[in-house]
Amino acid sequence: MNSKAAQVMVVTPHPDDAEYGVAGTVARWTNEGKEVVYVVCTNGDKGTSDTNAKSDELVKIREEEQMAAAKSLGVSEVIFLGHPDQGLEDTPEFRKELVRLIRIYRPETVVTADPYRRYVWHRDHRIAGQVTLDAVFPYARDYLSYPDLMKEGLHPHKVREILLWASEDVNYRSDITKTFHLKLNALRCHKSQVGHIPLQKLEAWLRERHMIMAEGEDFQLAEAFHRVEIWQSWLR
Ligand SMILES: [Zn+2]
Repeated sequence: MNSKAAQVMVVTPHPDDAEYGVAGTVARWTNEGKEVVYVVCTNGDKGTSDTNAKSDELVKIREEEQMAAAKSLGVSEVIFLGHPDQGLEDTPEFRKELVRLIRIYRPETVVTADPYRRYVWHRDHRIAGQVTLDAVFPYARDYLSYPDLMKEGLHPHKVREILLWASEDVNYRSDITKTFHLKLNALRCHKSQVGHIPLQKLEAWLRERHMIMAEGEDFQLAEAFHRVEIWQSWLR
């Protein structure tokens, strides 16, 4: 058994996207005893409207905020890949970084941004989502994809399911009624991004958003995803 194994890997384009997308579900998973690891693709050094902000200071702040948010949710580990904000590209190197991590942590579930959201969608979100999907299938799966990783002892791994947040094609809703307050807390850790919004306003906005996502379900608040089951257990 790999000592680093985690049941869930969350690949987030920027610091804070995971909190918007899946934090309520992450809190539920960690409460259930699941190991969750975060992979933060970019360092968030450009996403600000503060004209006094300096990129290198932002990187440090965003990293600390992301660590605090992850800690509050019970996430086991946070890996910062450190790509420049607005600089993520679909490259063999980035894909291999993700394959390496998938083979180290061997998650059952991978969560990321839906790359197929239309029109106005952050380029980093589109690329992070697409490269994660590619890394999961087929690159993490095949022996011959990376002979050098094999030599390092990083064997192929089959991820069971992918959840994509911010999808326009929702087919799975996760109950976050009991963990909504933890999601709100985690989001508030990103002070440089949401600190200017009064708590009541942020909470009301978030609650309404997740009530809408729960429409048609027998619970009150949901996070909504497009879910793809790649390997059924009997096929693995
Ligand atoms: Zn983002």
